[in-house]
Amino acid sequence: MSQQVRVRFAPSPTGPLHIGGVRTALFNYLFAKKNNGIFFLRVEDTDQNRFVPGAEEYIMEALEWLGISPDETIGKNEKFGPYRQSERKDLYQQYATQLINSGNAYYAFDTAEALDAARKKDEEQGITFIYNHHNREKLDTSLVISSEETATRIANGEHYVIRFKTPVNETLHLHDIIRGDVKFETSLLDDKVLFKSDGMPTYHLANIVDDHLMETSHVIRGEEWLPSMPLHVLLYRSFGWDAPQFAHLPLIMKPVGNGKLSKRDGDKMGFPVFPLDWKTDEGISSGYREKGFFPEAVINFLALLGWNDGTEKELYTLDELVNSFDLSRVHKAGAKFDPEKNKWFNHQYLIKQKDTDLAKAFAPILAEKQITVSEDKLTRIVSLIKERAHFVSEFWEMSDFFFVAPTAYDEKAIKNWKAETPGLMQELISVLEGITDYTSVNIETIIKDWMTKNEIGMGKVMQPFRLSLVGALKGPHLFDIVEMIGKEETINRLQKAIASI
Ligand code: GLU
Repeated sequence: MSQQVRVRFAPSPTGPLHIGGVRTALFNYLFAKKNNGIFFLRVEDTDQNRFVPGAEEYIMEALEWLGISPDETIGKNEKFGPYRQSERKDLYQQYATQLINSGNAYYAFDTAEALDAARKKDEEQGITFIYNHHNREKLDTSLVISSEETATRIANGEHYVIRFKTPVNETLHLHDIIRGDVKFETSLLDDKVLFKSDGMPTYHLANIVDDHLMETSHVIRGEEWLPSMPLHVLLYRSFGWDAPQFAHLPLIMKPVGNGKLSKRDGDKMGFPVFPLDWKTDEGISSGYREKGFFPEAVINFLALLGWNDGTEKELYTLDELVNSFDLSRVHKAGAKFDPEKNKWFNHQYLIKQKDTDLAKAFAPILAEKQITVSEDKLTRIVSLIKERAHFVSEFWEMSDFFFVAPTAYDEKAIKNWKAETPGLMQELISVLEGITDYTSVNIETIIKDWMTKNEIGMGKVMQPFRLSLVGALKGPHLFDIVEMIGKEETINRLQKAIASI
């Protein structure tokens, strides 16, 4: 094994990257950076049937958006390239042959029909069919024919696969950085296909050969690959190579109930399970980016899905995560996905943004509504509302009254509009008319003085006042609104309320 830490993210381009895949990439990134190592990305596209156009570009774009781009990949520092397995196709056959020659693999010529028949026969006896030591010498393999016959059949163009000859009756005692010691009985494993006569390796062979050639020091991947660990370790052993260390990450679980988080959970509860929008003929599956999440928030919350540093700390920059990250502190148990927490993180990052930046993000929404507003004013408005927002997309609903007068009044709030209210509002208008320094604090002082002097109760004025300006009893500090919309507009809205409520 190389001295340097070299870890990889090895997705198969079969569709958009699921949020669980993003977390795998993130943990690899964090581990690499923590250990001054290399994080590389290899595209595992040997299964042409499952190849989906655009998926590879999507994965790259997602990692870039999140700020965790690989150090080496297709088109970037290709030290051990190519980084796309389909372009490494010619390389794998010799390794498959090597395993045949060393007696660790064999040719299997079984047709699909023959396998179906064998499967059926087992099922009839209540046995689950498994291709391994117990039947490999009864099936159509090179183990039971001469090497000449094998060569002839291959030369004649017969279809074959190369299967791994799993050792019998061995207990493998393996170590996983996260799960600790794990034990596997080799006799229970099936003889996995490593190579097919179309010249393509399967995932298992290509993955092991490439991890060896690319000097992978640690394999950090999802728990769904744990069952493949014994085969992978046996493959390294058969080649005479040192195996990398393994760390299998816990699954990301549904918010409610049991099982793995699925796209359906996201659809049902209204949160994305993909980093970016994914468009197909059937429609768009929404992504974190387009939903208005900040990449830093997504990183932060994903890092805490299955890991913590042992303290109560929740907010981390990427650099802080790199410094604190430790694979041995990753949990074994599945990590429940919490959509509310997810939004909470976005809120935390939203309030950290500069008001000017938030104003810039809000401006296009206003432009679409043909509302023009100065940058200064917009910055101020944003500063007044952001404490309660999770997303910039909520800004309009939270601040429309700054730009347009209400067209309707909240029915519940209207109940507090008493017989005396129009008179009071009329008096309020006179007070406002007399104010020259029309700023929030000053207006507040003057109005409160007026109420005290005339012994008018707070609620009698403040609630109808807010209702007149906002149309509901919501929004930030009332006098900030009063200042922002200006004297003339304040008075207009009061008059309109008096006339229409
Ligand atoms: N290509 C596999 C995947 O799609 C990689 C698994 C591994 O990391 O070994 O997840």
